[in-house]
Amino acid sequence: MPEFESVIGLETHIQLNTQTKIFCGCKADSWEDLPNTNICPVCTGLPGVLPTLNNAVVTKAVLLALAVQVDSVQPKSYFARKNYFYPDLPKGYQISQYDEPLALGGFIDLPLPDGSVRRVTIEKLHLEEDAGKTVRQVGERWIDFNRCGVPLLEMVTGPDLRTADEAAQYLIRLRQLLRWLGISDADMERGQLRCDANVSIRPVGSDDLNTKTEIKNVNSIENVRSAIEAEIKRQIREVQSGGRIEAWTLDWDEDKSTLHKMRSKESEADYRYFREPDLLPVLIDQDWLEQMRDALPELPLERKERFIETYALPEYDSEILTEERTLSEYFERTVQAFIGDPKVVSNWMMNDLLRLIRERGTTAGKLIIQPEHLAELIAMVEAKTITASTGKELLDKVEHSGLTPEAIVKAEGLGQVSDEGKLRSLAVEIIETNPDQVATYTGGKTTILGWFVGQMMKETRGKANAQLVQKIFRELLEKS
Ligand code: ZN
Ligand code: MN
Repeated sequence: MPEFESVIGLETHIQLNTQTKIFCGCKADSWEDLPNTNICPVCTGLPGVLPTLNNAVVTKAVLLALAVQVDSVQPKSYFARKNYFYPDLPKGYQISQYDEPLALGGFIDLPLPDGSVRRVTIEKLHLEEDAGKTVRQVGERWIDFNRCGVPLLEMVTGPDLRTADEAAQYLIRLRQLLRWLGISDADMERGQLRCDANVSIRPVGSDDLNTKTEIKNVNSIENVRSAIEAEIKRQIREVQSGGRIEAWTLDWDEDKSTLHKMRSKESEADYRYFREPDLLPVLIDQDWLEQMRDALPELPLERKERFIETYALPEYDSEILTEERTLSEYFERTVQAFIGDPKVVSNWMMNDLLRLIRERGTTAGKLIIQPEHLAELIAMVEAKTITASTGKELLDKVEHSGLTPEAIVKAEGLGQVSDEGKLRSLAVEIIETNPDQVATYTGGKTTILGWFVGQMMKETRGKANAQLVQKIFRELLEKS
Protein backbone atom coordinates (compact mmCIF):
# COMPACT_ATOMS: atom_id res chain seq x y z
CA MET A 1 0.00 0.00 0.00
CA PRO A 2 1.36 3.44 -0.88
CA GLU A 3 1.62 6.14 1.72
CA PHE A 4 -0.74 9.02 1.12
CA GLU A 5 -0.40 12.72 1.44
CA SER A 6 -3.29 15.11 1.46
CA VAL A 7 -3.78 18.13 -0.76
CA ILE A 8 -5.85 20.90 0.73
CA GLY A 9 -7.06 24.22 -0.59
CA LEU A 10 -9.20 26.66 1.35
CA GLU A 11 -11.93 29.01 0.24
CA THR A 12 -12.58 31.68 2.79
CA HIS A 13 -15.39 34.18 2.93
CA ILE A 14 -14.38 37.27 4.84
CA GLN A 15 -17.01 39.66 6.13
CA LEU A 16 -15.63 43.16 5.68
CA ASN A 17 -16.38 45.47 8.60
CA THR A 18 -17.86 48.36 6.64
CA GLN A 19 -20.60 50.54 8.14
CA THR A 20 -23.13 49.66 5.44
CA LYS A 21 -23.88 46.70 3.19
CA ILE A 22 -22.28 46.26 -0.22
CA PHE A 23 -25.12 47.56 -2.44
CA CYS A 24 -27.47 49.50 -0.14
CA GLY A 25 -27.46 51.76 2.90
CA CYS A 26 -28.50 49.13 5.46
CA LYS A 27 -26.15 48.60 8.39
CA ALA A 28 -23.68 45.83 7.58
CA ASP A 29 -23.42 44.26 11.01
CA SER A 30 -26.76 43.07 12.33
CA TRP A 31 -25.51 40.34 14.65
CA GLU A 32 -27.51 41.73 17.54
CA ASP A 33 -30.61 42.76 15.60
CA LEU A 34 -33.95 40.95 15.53
CA PRO A 35 -34.52 38.92 12.35
CA ASN A 36 -35.64 40.89 9.27
CA THR A 37 -35.26 44.31 10.88
CA ASN A 38 -32.16 45.41 8.97
CA ILE A 39 -33.36 45.12 5.38
CA CYS A 40 -34.55 47.29 2.50
CA PRO A 41 -35.96 46.82 -1.02
CA VAL A 42 -32.42 46.56 -2.48
CA CYS A 43 -31.01 43.82 -0.27
CA THR A 44 -34.26 41.84 -0.37
CA GLY A 45 -34.32 42.09 -4.16
CA LEU A 46 -37.69 43.73 -4.69
CA PRO A 47 -38.55 44.53 -8.34
CA GLY A 48 -37.49 47.89 -9.76
CA VAL A 49 -34.55 48.64 -7.46
CA LEU A 50 -30.91 49.12 -8.37
CA PRO A 51 -27.75 48.23 -6.43
CA THR A 52 -25.01 50.84 -5.84
CA LEU A 53 -21.51 49.67 -4.99
CA ASN A 54 -20.18 50.74 -1.57
CA ASN A 55 -16.76 52.32 -2.09
CA ALA A 56 -15.52 51.30 1.37
CA VAL A 57 -15.90 47.64 0.40
CA VAL A 58 -13.46 48.10 -2.49
CA THR A 59 -10.99 50.03 -0.32
CA LYS A 60 -10.88 47.33 2.36
CA ALA A 61 -10.63 44.52 -0.17
CA VAL A 62 -7.77 46.23 -1.98
CA LEU A 63 -5.91 46.65 1.31
CA LEU A 64 -5.97 42.88 1.83
CA ALA A 65 -5.03 42.29 -1.83
CA LEU A 66 -1.94 44.45 -1.37
CA ALA A 67 -1.06 42.80 1.95
CA VAL A 68 -1.03 39.35 0.31
CA GLN A 69 1.05 40.81 -2.53
CA VAL A 70 -1.32 39.97 -5.35
CA ASP A 71 0.10 39.86 -8.87
CA SER A 72 -2.50 42.36 -9.91
CA VAL A 73 -5.35 44.40 -8.60
CA GLN A 74 -7.35 44.35 -11.83
CA PRO A 75 -7.74 47.85 -13.33
CA LYS A 76 -11.22 46.76 -14.35
CA SER A 77 -13.31 44.03 -12.74
CA TYR A 78 -16.94 43.05 -13.16
CA PHE A 79 -19.85 41.78 -11.14
CA ALA A 80 -21.80 38.76 -12.30
CA ARG A 81 -25.00 37.01 -11.36
CA LYS A 82 -24.60 33.58 -9.86
CA ASN A 83 -27.99 32.00 -10.29
CA TYR A 84 -29.30 29.45 -7.87
CA PHE A 85 -32.50 28.98 -6.02
CA TYR A 86 -32.42 29.00 -2.29
CA PRO A 87 -35.07 30.22 0.16
CA ASP A 88 -32.72 32.69 1.84
CA LEU A 89 -31.63 34.19 -1.48
CA PRO A 90 -34.63 36.36 -2.34
CA LYS A 91 -33.39 37.57 -5.75
CA GLY A 92 -32.77 34.01 -6.97
CA TYR A 93 -29.20 35.00 -7.72
CA GLN A 94 -26.18 36.24 -5.81
CA ILE A 95 -24.23 39.24 -7.08
CA SER A 96 -20.65 38.04 -7.17
CA GLN A 97 -17.56 38.34 -9.32
CA TYR A 98 -16.67 35.57 -11.72
CA ASP A 99 -14.41 35.71 -14.77
CA GLU A 100 -12.98 39.16 -14.02
CA PRO A 101 -12.41 39.27 -10.24
CA LEU A 102 -10.97 42.15 -8.24
CA ALA A 103 -7.48 40.69 -7.83
CA LEU A 104 -5.38 37.74 -9.00
CA GLY A 105 -2.40 35.90 -7.52
CA GLY A 106 -0.61 36.54 -4.25
CA PHE A 107 0.42 34.46 -1.29
CA ILE A 108 0.48 34.06 2.48
CA ASP A 109 3.62 32.61 4.08
CA LEU A 110 3.15 30.17 6.94
CA PRO A 111 6.11 29.62 9.25
CA LEU A 112 6.10 25.88 10.03
CA PRO A 113 7.24 24.35 13.34
CA ASP A 114 10.41 22.92 11.72
CA GLY A 115 11.55 26.45 10.81
CA SER A 116 10.65 26.21 7.13
CA VAL A 117 7.99 28.31 5.44
CA ARG A 118 4.99 27.03 3.51
CA ARG A 119 4.00 29.50 0.82
CA VAL A 120 0.25 29.32 0.27
CA THR A 121 -0.64 30.82 -3.06
CA ILE A 122 -3.79 32.86 -3.54
CA GLU A 123 -5.59 32.23 -6.80
CA LYS A 124 -7.99 35.13 -6.65
CA LEU A 125 -9.90 37.57 -4.49
CA HIS A 126 -13.41 38.56 -5.40
CA LEU A 127 -16.24 40.62 -3.97
CA GLU A 128 -19.76 39.39 -3.44
CA GLU A 129 -22.87 39.84 -1.34
CA ASP A 130 -23.89 37.48 1.41
CA ALA A 131 -27.19 35.59 1.34
CA GLY A 132 -29.70 35.43 4.18
CA LYS A 133 -29.82 32.87 6.90
CA THR A 134 -32.07 29.86 7.29
CA VAL A 135 -32.78 28.99 10.89
CA ARG A 136 -33.78 25.37 11.31
CA GLN A 137 -36.08 24.29 14.07
CA VAL A 138 -37.89 21.02 14.50
CA GLY A 139 -40.42 20.81 11.68
CA GLU A 140 -39.89 24.45 10.69
CA ARG A 141 -37.64 26.71 8.63
CA TRP A 142 -37.32 30.39 9.45
CA ILE A 143 -35.69 32.86 7.09
CA ASP A 144 -33.76 35.90 8.27
CA PHE A 145 -32.81 38.34 5.49
CA ASN A 146 -30.64 40.61 7.70
CA ARG A 147 -27.47 39.14 6.30
CA CYS A 148 -28.49 39.66 2.65
CA GLY A 149 -26.09 42.11 1.05
CA VAL A 150 -23.42 41.98 3.76
CA PRO A 151 -20.08 42.54 1.99
CA LEU A 152 -17.93 39.46 1.55
CA LEU A 153 -14.48 39.05 0.14
CA GLU A 154 -13.91 35.54 -1.14
CA MET A 155 -10.33 34.40 -1.20
CA VAL A 156 -9.32 31.09 -2.75
CA THR A 157 -5.96 29.42 -2.14
CA GLY A 158 -4.11 27.05 -4.41
CA PRO A 159 -3.93 23.34 -3.42
CA ASP A 160 -0.84 24.10 -1.35
CA LEU A 161 -1.65 22.93 2.15
CA ARG A 162 -0.57 19.43 3.18
CA THR A 163 -2.03 18.77 6.60
CA ALA A 164 -5.07 19.71 8.66
CA ASP A 165 -2.72 21.53 10.98
CA GLU A 166 -1.38 23.69 8.16
CA ALA A 167 -4.95 24.56 7.24
CA ALA A 168 -5.54 25.66 10.83
CA GLN A 169 -2.31 27.68 10.78
CA TYR A 170 -3.39 29.39 7.58
CA LEU A 171 -6.64 30.48 9.18
CA ILE A 172 -4.83 31.75 12.27
CA ARG A 173 -2.49 33.82 10.08
CA LEU A 174 -5.32 35.11 7.92
CA ARG A 175 -7.37 36.11 10.95
CA GLN A 176 -4.34 37.88 12.41
CA LEU A 177 -3.81 39.76 9.14
CA LEU A 178 -7.48 40.80 8.82
CA ARG A 179 -7.53 42.20 12.34
CA TRP A 180 -4.12 43.81 11.86
CA LEU A 181 -5.39 45.64 8.79
CA GLY A 182 -8.63 46.51 10.60
CA ILE A 183 -10.80 45.31 7.70
CA SER A 184 -12.68 42.48 9.42
CA ASP A 185 -13.29 41.37 12.99
CA ALA A 186 -12.80 37.84 11.64
CA ASP A 187 -14.79 36.17 14.40
CA MET A 188 -15.52 32.70 13.04
CA GLU A 189 -18.31 32.05 15.49
CA ARG A 190 -20.11 35.10 14.19
CA GLY A 191 -19.61 34.00 10.61
CA GLN A 192 -17.23 36.88 9.88
CA LEU A 193 -14.64 34.41 8.65
CA ARG A 194 -16.02 31.28 7.01
CA CYS A 195 -14.06 28.47 5.57
CA ASP A 196 -14.76 25.71 3.06
CA ALA A 197 -12.01 23.15 2.60
CA ASN A 198 -11.22 21.22 -0.58
CA VAL A 199 -9.55 17.95 0.28
CA SER A 200 -8.02 15.21 -1.85
CA ILE A 201 -5.33 12.58 -1.35
CA ARG A 202 -2.58 11.13 -3.51
CA PRO A 203 0.34 8.72 -3.08
CA VAL A 204 3.37 10.49 -1.62
CA GLY A 205 5.62 11.62 -4.47
CA SER A 206 2.81 12.07 -6.97
CA ASP A 207 1.98 15.47 -8.44
CA ASP A 208 -1.53 14.52 -9.50
CA LEU A 209 -4.52 16.43 -8.30
CA ASN A 210 -7.22 13.85 -7.68
CA THR A 211 -10.94 14.22 -7.22
CA LYS A 212 -11.59 16.46 -4.26
CA THR A 213 -14.42 16.80 -1.84
CA GLU A 214 -15.55 20.05 -0.35
CA ILE A 215 -16.27 20.47 3.35
CA LYS A 216 -18.71 23.30 4.03
CA ASN A 217 -19.94 25.30 6.99
CA VAL A 218 -17.16 24.84 9.49
CA ASN A 219 -17.27 27.60 12.08
CA SER A 220 -14.14 27.37 14.17
CA ILE A 221 -10.48 26.72 13.55
CA GLU A 222 -10.60 23.61 15.73
CA ASN A 223 -13.52 22.26 13.70
CA VAL A 224 -11.69 22.93 10.44
CA ARG A 225 -8.80 20.86 11.75
CA SER A 226 -11.04 17.99 12.94
CA ALA A 227 -13.19 17.96 9.80
CA ILE A 228 -10.19 17.84 7.46
CA GLU A 229 -8.55 15.11 9.53
CA ALA A 230 -11.74 13.05 9.43
CA GLU A 231 -12.08 13.51 5.67
CA ILE A 232 -8.46 12.53 4.96
CA LYS A 233 -8.98 9.33 6.96
CA ARG A 234 -12.24 8.60 5.15
CA GLN A 235 -10.64 9.06 1.72
CA ILE A 236 -7.68 6.82 2.58
CA ARG A 237 -10.05 4.11 3.85
CA GLU A 238 -12.13 4.44 0.69
CA VAL A 239 -9.16 4.14 -1.68
CA GLN A 240 -7.53 1.33 0.29
CA SER A 241 -10.71 -0.72 0.12
CA GLY A 242 -10.84 -0.32 -3.66
CA GLY A 243 -13.44 2.45 -3.75
CA ARG A 244 -13.40 5.75 -5.62
CA ILE A 245 -13.58 9.28 -4.29
CA GLU A 246 -16.57 11.15 -5.62
CA ALA A 247 -16.86 14.92 -5.77
CA TRP A 248 -19.17 15.29 -2.83
CA THR A 249 -19.99 18.33 -0.81
CA LEU A 250 -19.79 17.42 2.85
CA ASP A 251 -21.19 19.04 5.93
CA TRP A 252 -19.40 18.89 9.30
CA ASP A 253 -21.60 18.05 12.28
CA GLU A 254 -19.70 19.58 15.15
CA ASP A 255 -21.76 17.94 17.87
CA LYS A 256 -21.15 14.43 16.59
CA SER A 257 -17.76 15.19 14.98
CA THR A 258 -18.84 13.49 11.76
CA LEU A 259 -19.17 14.41 8.08
CA HIS A 260 -22.42 14.14 6.12
CA LYS A 261 -22.84 14.09 2.40
CA MET A 262 -24.94 17.16 1.47
CA ARG A 263 -25.09 16.77 -2.29
CA SER A 264 -23.04 15.92 -5.31
CA LYS A 265 -21.32 19.15 -6.14
CA GLU A 266 -22.85 21.51 -8.68
CA SER A 267 -20.67 22.31 -11.64
CA GLU A 268 -20.06 25.94 -12.54
CA ALA A 269 -22.40 25.59 -15.51
CA ASP A 270 -25.25 25.01 -13.07
CA TYR A 271 -24.95 28.59 -11.90
CA ARG A 272 -25.58 30.15 -15.33
CA TYR A 273 -23.24 33.04 -14.63
CA PHE A 274 -23.67 36.23 -16.64
CA ARG A 275 -22.52 39.84 -16.21
CA GLU A 276 -24.63 41.83 -13.76
CA PRO A 277 -26.39 44.37 -15.98
CA ASP A 278 -27.30 46.72 -13.12
CA LEU A 279 -23.74 47.51 -12.01
CA LEU A 280 -20.87 49.27 -13.73
CA PRO A 281 -17.43 47.67 -13.77
CA VAL A 282 -15.13 48.42 -10.81
CA LEU A 283 -12.40 50.76 -12.07
CA ILE A 284 -9.21 51.02 -10.04
CA ASP A 285 -7.35 54.30 -10.40
CA GLN A 286 -3.60 53.61 -10.53
CA ASP A 287 -2.61 56.71 -8.51
CA TRP A 288 -5.09 55.75 -5.81
CA LEU A 289 -3.68 52.20 -5.82
CA GLU A 290 -0.18 53.59 -5.22
CA GLN A 291 -1.47 55.69 -2.34
CA MET A 292 -3.03 52.56 -0.85
CA ARG A 293 0.26 50.70 -1.24
CA ASP A 294 2.08 53.50 0.60
CA ALA A 295 -0.51 53.46 3.38
CA LEU A 296 -0.10 49.72 4.00
CA PRO A 297 1.21 49.22 7.57
CA GLU A 298 4.18 47.05 8.48
CA LEU A 299 2.78 43.50 8.51
CA PRO A 300 2.96 40.96 11.37
CA LEU A 301 5.81 38.79 10.06
CA GLU A 302 7.92 41.80 9.06
CA ARG A 303 7.39 43.34 12.47
CA LYS A 304 8.25 40.07 14.17
CA GLU A 305 11.57 39.91 12.31
CA ARG A 306 12.31 43.55 13.07
CA PHE A 307 11.66 43.06 16.80
CA ILE A 308 14.11 40.14 16.83
CA GLU A 309 16.76 42.23 15.11
CA THR A 310 16.21 45.61 16.73
CA TYR A 311 15.49 44.54 20.29
CA ALA A 312 17.40 41.25 20.42
CA LEU A 313 14.21 39.44 21.45
CA PRO A 314 13.92 35.66 21.34
CA GLU A 315 11.72 34.48 18.47
CA TYR A 316 9.14 33.18 20.94
CA ASP A 317 8.72 36.62 22.53
CA SER A 318 8.56 38.36 19.20
CA GLU A 319 5.89 35.99 17.93
CA ILE A 320 3.66 36.65 20.93
CA LEU A 321 4.23 40.40 20.95
CA THR A 322 3.28 40.67 17.27
CA GLU A 323 0.20 38.47 17.49
CA GLU A 324 -1.96 41.56 17.61
CA ARG A 325 -1.15 44.97 16.21
CA THR A 326 -1.90 47.20 19.22
CA LEU A 327 0.08 44.82 21.44
CA SER A 328 3.12 45.21 19.20
CA GLU A 329 2.70 48.98 19.24
CA TYR A 330 2.33 48.93 23.00
CA PHE A 331 5.60 47.02 23.32
CA GLU A 332 7.46 49.44 21.13
CA ARG A 333 6.19 52.52 22.97
CA THR A 334 7.08 50.97 26.34
CA VAL A 335 10.59 50.16 25.14
CA GLN A 336 11.01 53.75 23.97
CA ALA A 337 9.97 55.07 27.38
CA PHE A 338 12.06 52.57 29.34
CA ILE A 339 15.79 52.91 29.83
CA GLY A 340 17.10 49.38 29.93
CA ASP A 341 16.90 45.95 28.33
CA PRO A 342 13.87 45.47 26.00
CA LYS A 343 13.75 41.83 27.13
CA VAL A 344 12.74 43.07 30.60
CA VAL A 345 9.80 44.90 29.02
CA SER A 346 8.96 41.79 27.00
CA ASN A 347 8.86 39.66 30.18
CA TRP A 348 6.50 42.07 31.89
CA MET A 349 4.23 42.21 28.88
CA MET A 350 4.11 38.47 28.27
CA ASN A 351 3.54 37.57 31.91
CA ASP A 352 1.61 40.39 33.46
CA LEU A 353 0.19 42.73 30.84
CA LEU A 354 -1.23 39.83 28.79
CA ARG A 355 -2.84 38.44 31.94
CA LEU A 356 -4.45 41.84 32.54
CA ILE A 357 -5.60 42.02 28.91
CA ARG A 358 -7.19 38.56 29.12
CA GLU A 359 -8.88 39.32 32.42
CA ARG A 360 -10.33 42.52 31.00
CA GLY A 361 -11.30 40.81 27.73
CA THR A 362 -9.78 43.71 25.83
CA THR A 363 -6.83 44.60 23.61
CA ALA A 364 -3.61 46.42 24.46
CA GLY A 365 -4.81 49.48 22.57
CA LYS A 366 -7.81 49.85 24.90
CA LEU A 367 -6.01 49.52 28.23
CA ILE A 368 -6.10 52.44 30.65
CA ILE A 369 -2.54 51.85 31.74
CA GLN A 370 -0.36 53.52 29.14
CA PRO A 371 3.01 52.27 27.85
CA GLU A 372 4.72 55.18 29.65
CA HIS A 373 3.15 54.01 32.95
CA LEU A 374 4.32 50.46 32.40
CA ALA A 375 7.84 51.73 31.68
CA GLU A 376 7.77 53.78 34.89
CA LEU A 377 6.55 50.77 36.88
CA ILE A 378 9.23 48.45 35.49
CA ALA A 379 11.89 51.08 36.18
CA MET A 380 10.82 51.25 39.83
CA VAL A 381 11.10 47.46 40.17
CA GLU A 382 14.48 47.47 38.43
CA ALA A 383 15.70 50.24 40.77
CA LYS A 384 14.38 48.18 43.72
CA THR A 385 12.17 51.06 44.79
CA ILE A 386 9.35 48.48 44.90
CA THR A 387 9.40 44.68 44.92
CA ALA A 388 8.42 42.64 41.88
CA SER A 389 5.27 41.41 43.62
CA THR A 390 4.27 44.99 44.51
CA GLY A 391 4.89 45.82 40.85
CA LYS A 392 2.45 43.16 39.69
CA GLU A 393 -0.27 44.45 42.03
CA LEU A 394 0.52 47.99 41.00
CA LEU A 395 -0.25 47.11 37.39
CA ASP A 396 -3.84 46.29 38.33
CA LYS A 397 -4.12 49.39 40.50
CA VAL A 398 -3.00 51.69 37.70
CA GLU A 399 -5.47 50.03 35.33
CA HIS A 400 -8.29 50.50 37.85
CA SER A 401 -7.53 54.04 38.97
CA GLY A 402 -5.86 55.65 35.96
CA LEU A 403 -3.29 57.16 38.36
CA THR A 404 0.42 56.92 37.64
CA PRO A 405 2.44 54.16 39.33
CA GLU A 406 4.52 56.72 41.20
CA ALA A 407 1.46 58.48 42.60
CA ILE A 408 0.04 55.18 43.88
CA VAL A 409 3.34 54.07 45.43
CA LYS A 410 3.51 57.41 47.28
CA ALA A 411 -0.13 57.47 48.37
CA GLU A 412 -0.15 53.85 49.60
CA GLY A 413 3.40 53.71 50.95
CA LEU A 414 4.25 50.72 48.76
CA GLY A 415 7.96 51.50 48.60
CA GLN A 416 10.23 48.57 49.32
CA VAL A 417 11.60 48.54 52.89
CA SER A 418 15.38 48.57 52.63
CA ASP A 419 15.96 50.30 55.96
CA GLU A 420 18.39 47.87 57.57
CA GLY A 421 17.89 49.13 61.14
CA LYS A 422 14.13 48.72 60.95
CA LEU A 423 14.34 45.28 59.35
CA ARG A 424 16.94 44.18 61.89
CA SER A 425 14.76 45.08 64.89
CA LEU A 426 11.80 43.26 63.34
CA ALA A 427 14.02 40.23 62.74
CA VAL A 428 15.13 40.22 66.37
CA GLU A 429 11.49 40.19 67.45
CA ILE A 430 10.68 37.28 65.13
CA ILE A 431 13.65 35.31 66.45
CA GLU A 432 12.71 35.96 70.07
CA THR A 433 9.11 34.82 69.65
CA ASN A 434 9.96 31.61 67.77
CA PRO A 435 12.50 29.62 69.80
CA ASP A 436 11.49 26.24 68.26
CA GLN A 437 12.33 27.36 64.73
CA VAL A 438 15.58 28.88 65.95
CA ALA A 439 16.49 25.54 67.52
CA THR A 440 15.78 23.79 64.22
CA TYR A 441 18.12 26.20 62.45
CA THR A 442 20.92 25.90 64.98
CA GLY A 443 20.42 22.11 64.96
CA GLY A 444 21.67 22.20 61.36
CA LYS A 445 18.45 22.43 59.30
CA THR A 446 19.33 25.80 57.73
CA THR A 447 16.67 25.50 55.02
CA ILE A 448 14.25 26.88 57.61
CA LEU A 449 15.75 30.27 56.77
CA GLY A 450 13.02 30.63 54.16
CA TRP A 451 10.37 30.36 56.88
CA PHE A 452 11.95 33.32 58.73
CA VAL A 453 11.99 35.38 55.53
CA GLY A 454 8.32 34.50 55.08
CA GLN A 455 7.49 35.84 58.54
CA MET A 456 9.19 39.10 57.70
CA MET A 457 7.21 39.39 54.46
CA LYS A 458 4.02 38.91 56.49
CA GLU A 459 5.08 41.67 58.89
CA THR A 460 5.93 44.08 56.08
CA ARG A 461 3.10 43.04 53.73
CA GLY A 462 5.62 41.87 51.18
CA LYS A 463 7.53 45.12 50.96
CA ALA A 464 10.79 44.04 52.59
CA ASN A 465 13.88 43.77 50.45
CA ALA A 466 14.17 39.97 50.38
CA GLN A 467 17.93 39.78 49.84
CA LEU A 468 18.58 42.10 52.74
CA VAL A 469 16.20 40.16 54.99
CA GLN A 470 18.00 36.88 54.21
CA LYS A 471 21.34 38.43 55.06
CA ILE A 472 20.06 39.80 58.39
CA PHE A 473 18.46 36.52 59.47
CA ARG A 474 21.54 34.52 58.54
CA GLU A 475 23.72 36.81 60.64
CA LEU A 476 21.39 36.80 63.66
CA LEU A 477 20.74 33.04 63.56
CA GLU A 478 24.44 32.18 63.24
CA LYS A 479 24.94 34.11 66.50
CA SER A 480 22.07 32.38 68.32
ZN1 ZN B 1 -30.59 47.00 2.34
MN1 MN C 1 -18.73 32.79 -2.52
